[in-house]
Amino acid sequence: MKIAVLPGDGIGTEIVAEAVKVLNVLELPLEMEEAVVGGAAYEAKGHPLPEATLQLAKDADAVLFGAVGDWKFDKLERALRPEQAILGLRKHLGLFANLRPALCYEQLTHASSLKPELVAGLDILIIRELTGDIYFGQPRGRRTAVDGHFPGAEEAFDTMRYSRPEIERIAHVAFQAARRRSNKVTSVDKANVLETFQFWKDVVTEVHAQYPDVELEHMYVDNAAMQLVKAPKKFDVVVTGNMFGDILSDEAAMLTGSIGMLPSASLDANNKGLYEPSHGSAPDIAGKGVANPLATILSAAMMLRYTLAQPEAADRIESAVRAVLAAGLRTPDIHSEGTRKVGTREMGDAVVAAITGKTITG
Ligand code: NAD
Repeated sequence: MKIAVLPGDGIGTEIVAEAVKVLNVLELPLEMEEAVVGGAAYEAKGHPLPEATLQLAKDADAVLFGAVGDWKFDKLERALRPEQAILGLRKHLGLFANLRPALCYEQLTHASSLKPELVAGLDILIIRELTGDIYFGQPRGRRTAVDGHFPGAEEAFDTMRYSRPEIERIAHVAFQAARRRSNKVTSVDKANVLETFQFWKDVVTEVHAQYPDVELEHMYVDNAAMQLVKAPKKFDVVVTGNMFGDILSDEAAMLTGSIGMLPSASLDANNKGLYEPSHGSAPDIAGKGVANPLATILSAAMMLRYTLAQPEAADRIESAVRAVLAAGLRTPDIHSEGTRKVGTREMGDAVVAAITGKTITG
């Protein structure tokens, strides 16, 4: 199993090193090769996604990604900015499904802005379509209005669109993911107003006929935003389009209160994936050895589960993370009174120790 390891910028190098350490103790036949990406790649090779990095990612079975970006690159022309590396990888690898679990660990319920009883035990999976919708639809641009409320005025417009195959493939991902969980999918749309999302709803309903064992409900996006903060535990798998998913996945992430804990996966049609923490490169804490590596370590667990078909190894990592939290170890972002503050490396070492059966002391 070949893994392309792309640490990137900022805390990326620190947190990916810990995830690699954890993967190495699993005694699996993993071949890991590292390459530069993002700002680091721009500085070393003049481009955020050099050809050699892209080739390595294409040849690998899965990509383990840290984070890219730093304020010092903000003045570069758009095509050379670190963030373009992610867009390029998504495009060239055909990654169309973004999976973001929002899991609230028992010991971290206090970190949520919601009442503990609303989030304790929360375990939902947001699946966002990544390639279509109003973000990529053509035509788009600025022009002089010929109709509407202000004919003759300057206006801007975008095009919302989804094709049948795009909806079908993301619906399959959602129903299959639900089968590995609690067998329930909530499809989020705006079918009451938007033609695109009436079509979305119709196609998801058709695909559902192939998954009679999975429960399907439809929900308007405004209601979904409300239910996510009112009764988030009612959800299991949530599937939606690119724009609604962009917004709802951040909302769901924040229910858990700790961005340093949240992994993510972006998958192609064959379950090949790019795995990365949900957070960015955190330039404000880079190099200080205090970043929380758990989101990246849990991303490695997702990689084992979804792409490399090693669910037992994924379970071992996830149980080890629970054990470390239960022992009271915390990086500063999740630290609270009565727990022990540790750095990035110590947290990674503790996960390794838990996997290899050593006792963790808080
Ligand atoms: P960010 O997620 O990097 O940081 C937001 C806040 O969360 C910061 O205070 C940071 O210190 C903290 N934080 C993030 N991850 C943490 C961790 N593992 N442990 C402890 N604290 C953590 O978002 P930002 O500050 O808006 O963006 C910084 C840079 O990251 C920008 O250049 C942005 O473009 C880039 N970015 C990259 C990605 C990606 O690579 N996928 C995603 C989002 C942002």
